[in-house]
Amino acid sequence: MWRVDVLLEIVSRGLDRTFSYFYCGKKSLDIYFRVLVDFNGRSLMGFVLKKKEISKEEIGDLKEIKEENIVDEEPLLSPSLFQLAEVVANYYLASRARVLQSMLPRSLSPRRSSLKGVKIAYETYVKLLDDSEKDLSPKQLECVRLLKENNYEIRKKEAGSPSILKALSSKGVISFFRVEKKRGLHRIKAFPHEKLELTPAQKEAFFGILKAKQDVTLLEGVTGSGKTEIYLQLSEKALEEGKSVIMLVPEINLTPQMVSYFAARFHEKVAILHSGLTEGERYDEYRRIAKGEAQIVIGARSAVFAPLKNVGLIILDEEHVESYKQETAPFYHAREVAIMRGKIEGARVLLGSATPSLESRARAHKGVYAFVELKERVNGKALPKVRILDLRTPDIFTKASDKISRPLLYALKERLEKGEQSLLLLNRRGYWTGIECPDCGHLFMCPDCGGYLTYHMSDQLLKCHHCGYVEEYPECCPQCHNTKLRRIGYGTERLERDLRDLLPEARIARLDRDVGRVSKKMEEILEDFRAGKYDILLGTQMIAKGHDFPNLTLAGMALADIGLALPSYRSSERTFNLVTQTVGRAGRSEKNGEAFIQTFNPEHYAIVLGARQDYEAFFRYEMKMRHDNEEPPYVYMLTLYVSAKSEERSFQGASDLRAMIEELKLNDLRIIGPFTPYISVSQGLYRKVLLLKARDMSRLKPKLKEIIETYGQRGGLKTEVNVDPLDY
Ligand code: ADP
Ligand code: ZN
Repeated sequence: MWRVDVLLEIVSRGLDRTFSYFYCGKKSLDIYFRVLVDFNGRSLMGFVLKKKEISKEEIGDLKEIKEENIVDEEPLLSPSLFQLAEVVANYYLASRARVLQSMLPRSLSPRRSSLKGVKIAYETYVKLLDDSEKDLSPKQLECVRLLKENNYEIRKKEAGSPSILKALSSKGVISFFRVEKKRGLHRIKAFPHEKLELTPAQKEAFFGILKAKQDVTLLEGVTGSGKTEIYLQLSEKALEEGKSVIMLVPEINLTPQMVSYFAARFHEKVAILHSGLTEGERYDEYRRIAKGEAQIVIGARSAVFAPLKNVGLIILDEEHVESYKQETAPFYHAREVAIMRGKIEGARVLLGSATPSLESRARAHKGVYAFVELKERVNGKALPKVRILDLRTPDIFTKASDKISRPLLYALKERLEKGEQSLLLLNRRGYWTGIECPDCGHLFMCPDCGGYLTYHMSDQLLKCHHCGYVEEYPECCPQCHNTKLRRIGYGTERLERDLRDLLPEARIARLDRDVGRVSKKMEEILEDFRAGKYDILLGTQMIAKGHDFPNLTLAGMALADIGLALPSYRSSERTFNLVTQTVGRAGRSEKNGEAFIQTFNPEHYAIVLGARQDYEAFFRYEMKMRHDNEEPPYVYMLTLYVSAKSEERSFQGASDLRAMIEELKLNDLRIIGPFTPYISVSQGLYRKVLLLKARDMSRLKPKLKEIIETYGQRGGLKTEVNVDPLDY
């Protein structure tokens, strides 16, 4: 007879505690098994955290866990992973159940009652049956037009939300069909890649990392300096020592080369966790890793939670990339979690980047992290020659285009003649980025969240890039019925049209979130560009990351200022990174590279220093700015998002929370707000923000957790905490 303490998932109430039950069955029930229990008449999933032998008398009014309600046959987590969940929950002020949700594949999450993984992996596809577009809502229209653009067939998970697909299928517009899917690794083309002899500089870095006294090492290496080979050889060494490795990348689909290098060198020892996996495959992969059948896991953010045993090395490539931060609860950052996990498991953590985040670089500067540098490109190639083009210069544009300047156009033409490739970056998708009425001044805004609506040529719809709201392109202004609407700003679709007009003979491919929504298409474009089937690759920041295109000799930025206009303390850092990354794409092989940066702010330090790839100077300058403005890494930040059905209620709730936090009288703490964030309405809830800044959060956090658990979810309020937010 056992007393069993179960952690229940009642995330909505922020409840983070265990409840006791008794068990007297024969089937094994152990710690970290999942069970279904009765909680106030509801059947809820929980995690067993404790088990204690008791006598019949001690049962009291405990409820029973029945044998048939034991979900697992073996523990789902290792003790160290559960410990990690606790540490993460503590740091991010989240409930443990919420963290477990992020940790486990969806089919294993405590919330889901679909218990067992599917044994055969099927992929469901959507087929378009009726393309007449009759009687469709804008959202349904968007889906139908996406299908039209992709040969009437795409994977279900890429086609749209389940509710939209359901509605379309009941109207007979689409149908579903299933295809048996091959296992993950088959999809990856592992082109043979021999182990390379490290250059002297790489050797020095390699041993520098191994000898580091600190647990965390920052590897700062310019683009093309050969960081990947170092990752590979460090991984090999870890395996030889019987340890396992986690290799994190910002996005699997955008880093096919990294994946193929690892697959080619370590074969079936590698497990790849990417978003293209079906739930069944994900479950299989999770089990395979947990059983120790794979020793290297490559994946994006959530792979930091992979159930590997005996982890010896955790690598984050491009550690500065913001997608490592999850923007929903528990709002964790893979870098911080990697460091926590490294501590628990005694694993080395390696952060690699050409442009480290200021947070990491500052810690390296202070000696908290070890610091290793690679200053030269492997092939000794100088970085490309960069020209900053001031778009305010008279006559910089030809009559044919007000987006691509003369010098950039000539450079593009020159590449075409020589048979070399170019890359052109514009970090904004869509066709026009705003529509307004010139007569009455009416602006087309998102009714759900208040952002501007962008016109998309591919499906001729207006879309909100923040919340996904869609509407049909208006015939006229809804206020004054004027039919001549003014279009403002431009995105990648529009730039593509200009480029096609200017260079009709060029073979042009565009890559952004719209095209990349269908991942097969994205992979195809990247592969075809590498193979020389296109002359120009145009796109958003997706094309600036990590790719190695040998025949690429020109990199251009159409408008480097886009990021600077956004109100954020990180806008300079983002712009600097993007400029540096873009410039770094050109001239990576024998041929010399060149880069052009078009801008209205040619003197801005982020652009000037990015063009020079002068990270050191940027770091010093930006650190001074952050210091003067009291921003990270000089302070820690934390935001509270307080939402309610009415604006008054959310404002009142946030003000009350502010007063309670002030009561704590922590002298180091600054509280800003409540203020209204850029996205002020989400899912029908009005949101207010409190921003907290302090040099030390450790005293505040436990008290804050208590306040939020007690008051943050009362009276129709919903309060979320974002620790170390990237924005507010
Ligand atoms: P980074 O990730 O630092 O931008 P990469 O790892 O992509 O740089 O390396 C740049 C290029 O140099 C790649 O084409 C890679 O194959 C090559 N390379 C790396 N290390 C060596 C080496 N030791 N010998 C020869 N070529 C190398
Ligand atoms: Zn919106």
